[in-house]
Amino acid sequence: MRLDVIRAPDTSRTAPPAASETLEFGRRFTPHMFTMCFSAADGWSAARVEPYHAISLDPSALVFHYGQEIFEGMKAYAAPDGSIHLFRPDDHIARMNRSARRMCMPEVDASFVRHALSTLLAIDAAEMPQLPASSLYLRPTMIATSVGLGVRSSDQFLFFCLVSPVGGYFDSAASSPVAIHVNEGHVRAVRGGVGDIKVGGNYAASLLAAEEARAAGCVQTLWLDAIEHKYVEEVGTMNVFFVFDDVLVTPPLTGTILAGITRDSVLRIALHEGRRVEERAISLAEVLDGAKSGRLQEAFGSGTAVGISPIGAFVHRADRHVVRDGGSGPIALSMLRLLSAIQRGENSLFPEWRTRVDAYPRAG
Ligand SMILES: *Cc1c(COP(=O)(O)O)cnc(C)c1O
Repeated sequence: MRLDVIRAPDTSRTAPPAASETLEFGRRFTPHMFTMCFSAADGWSAARVEPYHAISLDPSALVFHYGQEIFEGMKAYAAPDGSIHLFRPDDHIARMNRSARRMCMPEVDASFVRHALSTLLAIDAAEMPQLPASSLYLRPTMIATSVGLGVRSSDQFLFFCLVSPVGGYFDSAASSPVAIHVNEGHVRAVRGGVGDIKVGGNYAASLLAAEEARAAGCVQTLWLDAIEHKYVEEVGTMNVFFVFDDVLVTPPLTGTILAGITRDSVLRIALHEGRRVEERAISLAEVLDGAKSGRLQEAFGSGTAVGISPIGAFVHRADRHVVRDGGSGPIALSMLRLLSAIQRGENSLFPEWRTRVDAYPRAG
């Protein structure tokens, strides 16, 4: 498939943020976006990198009514020499194709999409923020665009990708571990459902729990399993890790947990460092008792947006269970630094995780 490039006027370039400025997550976008369309008759076509623009859809488009929508979140980082590298793009695109299959949506050609996203990044390379720990966040999205209210799978789809310059969570996350609310009323996912794919509906369904977490003075929800309400699954929109007796532990991927690419990176880095690692069921009792006895040495969340987010306390009913002294643990901090260095090509570990974005020739 051909990829057309339509450049935005040079005036649309946004000024890079000053060093003192913080970038609120996902509020600014680069001047270009990538789009392509699918129809059952023609497959994917009309692939374009083009100026960022509003999209117009018929109000009866299926995405608005029945939620046939999937997305990804991935990042591109600047290496010390200024070149831009996507972090594990093929893993993100493969996961999007798994989401697509589950939601009766068309798969994309992974190498074409990688090429398209690289072209988009190359054109907007000047938008890479120069702040420490910052990056470009990519949001590939696919929506059902067929019109009409009959419940069915769409036969037309729009794929688009936005790029947002984002700041680093490094310092703020490291210096301020978050409090997590244990939610015993709502559940995120059941086996056989869609908890293991990135579909927007999962997020809509989590908003009320997030409000309850805020009301309890917390920033995220600790999700328990839907059957027994006994085992820990995820934390907000992140995978969750614990350190018990010097062993790094995370719940296994049994169909209700999103297979985070950061989760996988953390596990592989930990093994590379010679740490003991276990993927096993972890009960809430083990976490709360461990916080009390000190057997639980650390807890943290992992995800593309935040990287590693240390957890300082779990709020369960009226009780606050502080982890360690409430401060960041050494394994979380070392993992955060190591992962960040790998993503930026500041060390030679896991070079296969980085895909260099080639410079795009300037117009004229
Ligand atoms: C995206 C997501 C994660 C993190 O996945 P990464 O690939 O590490 O960004 C974890 N849990 C849920 C529910 C998610 O949607």
